Amino acid sequence: MVVGEFTTEVDVLVIGAGPGGYVAAIRAAQLGKSVTVVERGELGGVCLNVGCIPSKALIHASHTYDHMKAADQMGISVENVSVDFGKVQEWKSKVVKQLTGGVGSLFKGNKIQTVPGEALFVSENEVRVFNGYEVNRYKFNHCIIATGSRPIELPAFPYGERVLSSTEALNLTEIPKNLVVIGGGYIGIELGSVYARFGSKVTILEGSDQILPGFEAEMTRLVERKLKKNKVDVFTKAMAKGMEETENGVVVTAEVKGEEKKFEADYVLVTVGRRPNTDELGLSDIGMKLTEKGYVIVDKQGQTSIPNVYAIGDIVEGPALAHKASYEGKVAAEAIAGQPSAVDYKVIPAVVFSDPEISSVGISEREAKEQGLDYVVGRFPFAANGRALSVNAGEGFVKLVADKETGVVLGAQIVGPEASNLIAEIGLAIEMGATLEDIELTIHAHPTLGEMMMEAAELALGHPIHVLNK
Ligand SMILES: Cc1cc2nc3c(=O)[nH]c(=O)nc-3n(C[C@H](O)[C@H](O)[C@H](O)COP(=O)(O)OP(=O)(O)OC[C@H]3O[C@@H](n4cnc5c(N)ncnc54)[C@H](O)[C@@H]3O)c2cc1C
Repeated sequence: MVVGEFTTEVDVLVIGAGPGGYVAAIRAAQLGKSVTVVERGELGGVCLNVGCIPSKALIHASHTYDHMKAADQMGISVENVSVDFGKVQEWKSKVVKQLTGGVGSLFKGNKIQTVPGEALFVSENEVRVFNGYEVNRYKFNHCIIATGSRPIELPAFPYGERVLSSTEALNLTEIPKNLVVIGGGYIGIELGSVYARFGSKVTILEGSDQILPGFEAEMTRLVERKLKKNKVDVFTKAMAKGMEETENGVVVTAEVKGEEKKFEADYVLVTVGRRPNTDELGLSDIGMKLTEKGYVIVDKQGQTSIPNVYAIGDIVEGPALAHKASYEGKVAAEAIAGQPSAVDYKVIPAVVFSDPEISSVGISEREAKEQGLDYVVGRFPFAANGRALSVNAGEGFVKLVADKETGVVLGAQIVGPEASNLIAEIGLAIEMGATLEDIELTIHAHPTLGEMMMEAAELALGHPIHVLNK
């Protein structure tokens, strides 16, 4: 022990204040626990500071610019539309600040203590927290680890001035002339599209045979078509091999469908996945069980192999999503408070804020087929929905998958404008065990995009109104 090291005894210690950690802290406080949160960076974690929120703010700003330029098809002429990217970034930062400030106020209101610094486990019930030159110890009854994840670095593309991770790509001060994106997953597609809408010449290199692997090809095809329409070059089966720095940028070499190609860029954005922040916490030293890839092994309550320590969010296997982290945070807090909560992952929506948006919940038609289920599908096009056409959004479809015999809703896939919001109704339907008939008999307001859920249910039942039943 360093001379002067001070030990504080706390009840529940949460490490990391991202959407997993801060939600867990609030829930534990609501249940009467005294909670202390250690955070080495900013409140809100990746999601609020360098993830979900700033990316969606930039997506919105870039769409606004795009829509203004395209307004003449509705008879509205807008002249001299231009972008002051510095101001776009300022506005984005204001949104982030408002939200992280909100977490601070919630902590205060719930009497949650915040300790700035980096935590390292020294035993099963104690951590050291390093904050500059100061080191303090915290002894806890229960701990929730929510330290999140960081971008994976490719050895041939070390992060630096010209090679960006998503964090730097969100904070660029200029709009790149040429941007190469390595990785066509959701982060690459979202950020690549932002800069394409702002005027960058964007090239996407994706190793597998479709962008957004994991989503059905009939959905991702629409996104790829729109990307190409916006002059984004999309290369699938494209493996980035290396790069050479030039005076003003880089030249990326990639093998595209077996052929070597070179791409000039002023920036390269590498988004090939994320790895859990579990390697610098001293977890193996205290005997915690991790998977080979460094994810913490937990049970249905988030309890690790050390009974008084829980783990949630991106450091636990499953989709690296903010809403999964928050959900697990609530379950872990409730478990610590003695409640019989347990995770049930049947309803974790997945959303990509691409153009058009993509969302999915429950099982897809492909999965229903693979599982040998007897199922029905209702696939309703945006083009047959009045609201969609009146807001110039007639591209895409809603697909409901249900059990053939009982009509119980099993899943939905949506591609089209507002897919991110529309999916919520089907998430609730699956959670409630609703049937196609329940959705069909629910009066949906007209004219709304939401009516498409009712129409898709009618289609699956064989009596659609606004399309012919073939
Ligand atoms: C560009 C981008 C866009 C995204 N968009 C979406 C989206 O639209 N929807 C969605 O659901 N998800 C999105 N995500 C994913 C989402 O951000 C993560 O899944 C989510 O933040 C995980 O939450 P978490 O609480 O597990 O960890 P994090 O948010 O990563 O928070 C972990 C916190 O722990 C702190 N920490 C780490 N180690 C220590 C330590 N030793 N001591 C003290 N503190 C520590 C970190 O500083 C950090 O603040 C996006 C991610 C990125 C990068």
